[in-house]
Amino acid sequence: MTLTESAPAPADEVVLEAVGLTKHFPVRRRLRDLLSRTPAVVHAVDDVSIALRRGRVTALVGESGSGKSTVARLLAQLYPRTAGDIRLHGRSTRVRGGHRFRAYVRRVQLILQDPFASLNPVHTVRYHLTRSLRIHGNAGTGPDGLEKALAGLLTRVALTPPERYLDAFPHELSGGQRQRVAIARALGADPEVLLADEPVSMLDVSIRLGVLNLLQDLKDRLDLAILYITHDIASARYFADETIVMYAGRMVEGGDSETVTQRPAHPYTRLLIESAPDPERITGAGGDGAAAGERGHGEPPSLIRPPAGCRFHPRCPAAMPRCATDLPPPMPVDDAPGHWAACWLYDADTVATEKPANAEKPAKAEKPANTEHAEQAGTEAGR
Ligand code: SF4
Repeated sequence: MTLTESAPAPADEVVLEAVGLTKHFPVRRRLRDLLSRTPAVVHAVDDVSIALRRGRVTALVGESGSGKSTVARLLAQLYPRTAGDIRLHGRSTRVRGGHRFRAYVRRVQLILQDPFASLNPVHTVRYHLTRSLRIHGNAGTGPDGLEKALAGLLTRVALTPPERYLDAFPHELSGGQRQRVAIARALGADPEVLLADEPVSMLDVSIRLGVLNLLQDLKDRLDLAILYITHDIASARYFADETIVMYAGRMVEGGDSETVTQRPAHPYTRLLIESAPDPERITGAGGDGAAAGERGHGEPPSLIRPPAGCRFHPRCPAAMPRCATDLPPPMPVDDAPGHWAACWLYDADTVATEKPANAEKPAKAEKPANTEHAEQAGTEAGR
């Protein structure tokens, strides 16, 4: 298979899947902890299940510390998992270095947030791309084959003419160009899955959309399955087919991106959307400024001793007694197929017996803050 071709496969085929993925990091024990029978751990990720499908983008959204980057590193097999399974084309995989790890990364590539840190400053673009092509057996035959493969990679990420960039060092490139080189290096493996961990968050606002458009183009042309990790839920609506929201290491809501961002069901997703800057809300012109500020007050919980029940309950304005004791499972939200929320508000029995007078109803359809800016920028980028 070449970089320009994809193996024929059913549309929407699940390429990479996480089932009940869990990661607990041990905490260094202090003297008084030695008396405790259960060693302290950070519950970074608990029971996360995601299916990445060919030709589709899945966004994983949440604030810092929600566990979304840990999920990417688990899927890249950079961390051993505590529990759960990772399946590539339906086959359980657990690799720890060696040729099996190399075979795995040939299929699954990780793009990091900081393109400057991910490229070696003393080596040129040619070095980075040649290394990737050679390691993964895509360097072609002879010097001509290598030059052709290098030019193909740079053309694919719109760094043209290629000869202008091949011998440049990372510090001679802009942030957007560096991220494109990092993407080209990932493509050197000819992968099926890209795990993009906040790929635009360190770039200037003006060039973010260009990089997102590039990823969209690669998804369409190469039929890639892409995991897009971000704290910006508005960009998830613009870029992703499906959106999953994480809070304190757990998945709390999921569904198609349009539904999750337009009709958020979980109180935390509503808080995320309301937290995006919106001049109308700040000035009170939208009439909801005070209410938005009162929602979801407080800080994310400690992941060493996460709250029992729903982890959002200490911050949730709609919390009911049951929320502090029982973990809500994913429950269907009856507004769109596949839309779910892990929230007791969507359990009819719980609501009938416990719903407080101030519990919020599911939000009305409304445009998330920033979306108009993203759409406008998208229009401008397309010009
Ligand atoms: Fe709020 Fe309870 Fe729903 Fe958690 S389960 S988000 S505390 S209403």
